[in-house]
Amino acid sequence: MTINQNSSELPYSNQHSNQHIAQSENNIYEVAIIGGGISGTALLYSLSNYTNINNIVLIEKYQEVALVNSHKNSNSQTLHFGDIETNYTLKKAQTVRRAADLVKNYILKNDPQQQTYSKYHKMVLAVGKKQMEELQQRYKEFKLLFPKLRLVSREEIQIIEPNLVKNRAFA
Ligand SMILES: Cc1cc2nc3c(=O)[nH]c(=O)nc-3n(C[C@H](O)[C@H](O)[C@H](O)COP(=O)(O)OP(=O)(O)OC[C@H]3O[C@@H](n4cnc5c(N)ncnc54)[C@H](O)[C@@H]3O)c2cc1C
Repeated sequence: MTINQNSSELPYSNQHSNQHIAQSENNIYEVAIIGGGISGTALLYSLSNYTNINNIVLIEKYQEVALVNSHKNSNSQTLHFGDIETNYTLKKAQTVRRAADLVKNYILKNDPQQQTYSKYHKMVLAVGKKQMEELQQRYKEFKLLFPKLRLVSREEIQIIEPNLVKNRAFA
């Protein structure tokens, strides 16, 4: 599928999904984006809306965009903010959070009924003394960036989700 984007057309794939192929008169484009996953389509959106580039081609090898990793059934559909990603440093979480907030706000603005976006509680579990100490330390470091972060004790977890602690010895 080849989508030619010029200033008179909207950048959304729906408009083009019936294998609509619009080509530049001379097939010369200012920008060629290869691959219509989330990266390619997001780039197309950004260039179309926030630059004066009028002549962009998005080349996708399949018939529709987002059929590979970006397909909803191919990934966990989680927006990573950096709060529960324990492999992130605080610096990385700051950067990721800023970008994730942009996505969240875009979705909330364009999908107020939250048909494509749902909020869920997330939890990081520490198992054993060492992990508990690490998580407590991480909590101290990260709570300024994520004020809603809460440290939950074993007793509270037992109430929220009893199966998590069932048959587990105390650390
Ligand atoms: C199991 C799993 C779970 C994940 N969970 C999450 C998650 O919870 N949250 C999250 O943020 N990320 C998650 N990810 C990562 C996320 O899915 C990917 O980072 C993202 O979809 C990558 O998008 P992309 O556009 O770079 O690549 P892709 O979606 O793979 O798009 C690349 C596109 O390029 C096309 N293409 C390739 N070669 C050519 C060619 N030669 N010519 C034309 N077109 C070509 C492909 O057909 C495809 O459409 C997960 C990934 C996996 C595998």
